[in-house]
Amino acid sequence: MACIFCRIIKGELPSFKIFESDKTLAFLDINPLSHGHTLIIPKHHGVSLTDIPDDSLTEVLSVAKKVALAVKAENWNLLQNNGRLAHQEVDHVHFHVIPKPNEKEGLGVGWPQM
Ligand code: IMP
Repeated sequence: MACIFCRIIKGELPSFKIFESDKTLAFLDINPLSHGHTLIIPKHHGVSLTDIPDDSLTEVLSVAKKVALAVKAENWNLLQNNGRLAHQEVDHVHFHVIPKPNEKEGLGVGWPQM
């Protein structure tokens, strides 16, 4: 199986898991843009957002919200790229939760505890 995120779902590749259910997996980004940068993916393989069934998409967004709450970042981005020209590198739909460092505390946000 070539898809690296499908291999992570199957446990064939390691990941730092934050949350897992039947339909969804959340794990830390291997090359984080900030402390706590987390990827949330549907277990259903699809390259583009338009490939994902609505029920899987609903849960992925709900988990993204929980990750954002768990990381306790006051400021954060939710990012999702489709296609090479839009900077998609991994061809399995994923949402990034990217906490923004707090000016007072620097990278003072923790890993999401779920
Ligand atoms: P994209 O540009 O939206 O496709 O982002 C792909 C993300 O996947 C990047 O932020 C990578 O650092 C991340 N990534 C690639 N391979 C792995 C991995 O094996 N584990 C965790 N994150 C990964």
